[in-house]
Amino acid sequence: MRKIAIYGKGGIGKSTTTQNTVAGLAEMGKEVLVVGCDPKADSTRLLLGGLAQKTVLDTLREEGEEIELDDIIKLGCGNVRCVESGGPEPGVGCAGRGIITSINLLEQLGAYDEKHETEYAFYDVLGDVVCGGFAMPMREGKAQEIYIVVSGEMMAMYAANNICKGIVKFADAGGVRLGGIICNSRMVDNEKEMIEEFAKGLGTQMIHFIPRDNVVQRAEINRKTVIEYEPEHSQADEYRTLARKIDENDMFVVPTPMKIDDLENLLVDFGMV
Ligand code: ADP
Ligand code: MG
Repeated sequence: MRKIAIYGKGGIGKSTTTQNTVAGLAEMGKEVLVVGCDPKADSTRLLLGGLAQKTVLDTLREEGEEIELDDIIKLGCGNVRCVESGGPEPGVGCAGRGIITSINLLEQLGAYDEKHETEYAFYDVLGDVVCGGFAMPMREGKAQEIYIVVSGEMMAMYAANNICKGIVKFADAGGVRLGGIICNSRMVDNEKEMIEEFAKGLGTQMIHFIPRDNVVQRAEINRKTVIEYEPEHSQADEYRTLARKIDENDMFVVPTPMKIDDLENLLVDFGMV
């Protein structure tokens, strides 16, 4: 089973990209489990058709330890199994601990058992907070493979660079590797070329460039992935392509984070500032 964590700055498109890519993998016949690790608990909404998913932490709080898998896993589009880990009440406790509690509980209840024939587990992780919590899935060896969603905007690249520093920290102990950078376009000038160069600087690849398209919003309003909502649309093919590239990927590295000066020079070179 490949355990993959998707990281990136808040609002960059992690949940959208994860669910659409997972829909692509499901279409290829893959068995997939998605675990939302954002306290917002909106990582599986498009796969579940908006069905409000009770989070693992809420279920634990309300029902104590007497939990069954069916209480926390809901079947979504394409037979994708969906979980939302949820979060602590704002200002109380550590979101990272909540994620580990959830993953441990899933393990205990047998969610990863062979009988489910799960080929992929995806973790959709909030990643602009540089506290220990955000690194939990890679620190505890729960995810071995990381993809970072980024755009050509400075803050998104800055966050991606920081996430790479986190990967370096845990690469030795946990064996976590970076599988690539996903560029989710914000229509910045020279964005594709710049992110390709950024990826090179980090010692990795830009695994795919996803165009910005309003069909993503139309699908979202209808609580669907683009692949379900408009399967013939070119944007659906972009997600299918990303799914295939991840399925075939064989480039896994310990990244080389950039120095801030080099990152700023990259932005200057590509004409952003
Ligand atoms: P995150 O999970 O990183 O916080 P989301 O996946 O919730 O971000 O995306 C934030 C918003 O950006 C959503 O409203 C989504 O519809 C929009 N979005 C994401 N990717 C695209 C895209 N390629 N084209 C158009 N809109 C997008
Ligand atoms: Mg999200």
